[in-house]
Amino acid sequence: MSLIINNGIVASPGIKIGKAYIYKGDKIPIPRYKIKDEEIVFELDRFNKALERTKEEIKSIQAQIAKNLSKEMSDIFSSHLMVLEDPIIEEKSRKIITEEKKNAEWVINDISIDLINSLSTIEDDYFRERIIDISDINKRVISNLQKNRTYSITDIKEEVIVFASDLTPSETAIMNKNLILAFVTDKGGKTSHTAIMARALEIPAIVGTLNASSLVKNDDTVIIDAVHGQIIINPTENEITEFRRYQEEFEQLELELAKLTNLPSQTVDNQEVFIFGNIEIPEEVEIIKNHGAQGIGLFRSEFLFLDKSLPDEERQFNEYRKVAEHFNPLPVTIRTIDVGGDKVYAYTKQYKERNPFLGCRAIRFSLENVDLFKIQLRAILRASHYGNIKLMFPMITTLEEFFKSKAITENIMDELRSKNIPFNENIEIGIMIEVPSAAINSDILGRHVDFFSVGTNDLVQYILAVDRISEKIAYLYNPLNIAVLRSLKQIVDASLKNSVPLSICGEIAGEPQYTMLLLGLGFRQLSMSPTYMNQVKKIIRSVNISECEEMVREIMGMELTEEIEALVRMKFKEKYQEIM
Ligand code: PEP
Ligand code: MG
Repeated sequence: MSLIINNGIVASPGIKIGKAYIYKGDKIPIPRYKIKDEEIVFELDRFNKALERTKEEIKSIQAQIAKNLSKEMSDIFSSHLMVLEDPIIEEKSRKIITEEKKNAEWVINDISIDLINSLSTIEDDYFRERIIDISDINKRVISNLQKNRTYSITDIKEEVIVFASDLTPSETAIMNKNLILAFVTDKGGKTSHTAIMARALEIPAIVGTLNASSLVKNDDTVIIDAVHGQIIINPTENEITEFRRYQEEFEQLELELAKLTNLPSQTVDNQEVFIFGNIEIPEEVEIIKNHGAQGIGLFRSEFLFLDKSLPDEERQFNEYRKVAEHFNPLPVTIRTIDVGGDKVYAYTKQYKERNPFLGCRAIRFSLENVDLFKIQLRAILRASHYGNIKLMFPMITTLEEFFKSKAITENIMDELRSKNIPFNENIEIGIMIEVPSAAINSDILGRHVDFFSVGTNDLVQYILAVDRISEKIAYLYNPLNIAVLRSLKQIVDASLKNSVPLSICGEIAGEPQYTMLLLGLGFRQLSMSPTYMNQVKKIIRSVNISECEEMVREIMGMELTEEIEALVRMKFKEKYQEIM
């Protein structure tokens, strides 16, 4: 009999049928035992083979990254190879295995810990990054010593549906979407960056199932219905037939919607509504452009900083320039890095924070690490000469933060001028409105910035005090809470009062059920992942602004979220039935 799980959250839509693959990530046990004299040769051979296998693995990851992302990003792993090929480490390991008769996992782990301890006393970015390399290699070699373990998501070599307790945003970024048909995680919410990445790569995903990964076994046949949020383990023949039909219908609908790509994004009463794309990695520009977007409303630049190493100015400049040229003359809004929260990077890994979402995140991190910030600003400004780039600061909480960030930007501008390096002198500098203080003070901020972009993913979590990636309290995370809607209204009013251009780039901008609500509130620029771009456009093309405003007037008189939800759902259903 089949087992049905339906408590998950759809993170990225699609219907897939395939074999389950349980991915355990990097939780590797480290066995410690003494070997006998006659086992030494065998142990040395085991150690050798694990080293060789790890080298091959790293080379194949490099090839994968070069294919999925870029050659520059694949170079990140060159330092891994250097550590692996270091003769001193290899010799020392052999000596301990032979003389102290310890098993290979034990020896490798002890040597890595010694190395990490001695490097961590040195205050230097280069050595900090090497610590991460060493701990990564340590895990890889140990996992290769224990046969049949998968260490990296890129080791998957067959078509599967991945089940994991959790996946990081960067693990998702390097997935081979030809092999990973879909994924399911126990943890996570709809606006986690893992979910966002799944949408960007168009990999169907269900997150926040609490325990799906412990209910499935490797090679079980599974159906992932990431439209209705259902997972069926070991389906019956009838269920498989039924879902194959759904799958065809879903794909047919997608083809139908694709016909909208080149049609104008305009309401029935001729109001233009701009549709922009959100991107995480430059390789997404093709998908976004093919969906007919009018530029990039949010380039989450932190994804360039991946997991292992920091990109230098030249590499950043090339990536920003590539995207800007691709869209020129359409705008590309580059947001300076937003590390912290659920995006943990090489540089921040060592500083575990008690409340990462309330900690040194986004612009706070940039202002703490001004040298890094300046490198990024220089790269963005230089790239601004090659296209229509706008500069955006994330998580601005106080006006002072904006002034400081702008002053640093102006210093870099002076420096570029003095060196005759061209950049756009009139580059627009705006901010994300994504924390309550910025929303409440949007009238004040509006006097000083060139544009606003509302980040509802964070605004909702901070207004409602609910962790956006937590599956346990996902029921509370609701953009339709009247407190959130009042806040959005306040931001729209402040933007009108100060004539500050306004867009919205949180996930709700790309969800068709919210389109009428956002238009009624006064948003005319929506920035989103490509997932539902065509559906959103279809709604825009079938409504009058007056009916949207009427709906918002009604909502603003309501108190309970469930009442608002019922109204929004009903209006969406009516519209959907009328047009689809
Ligand atoms: C947001 O907070 O809504 C946003 C767009 O930024 P991110 O999801 O990257 O935090
Ligand atoms: Mg945000």
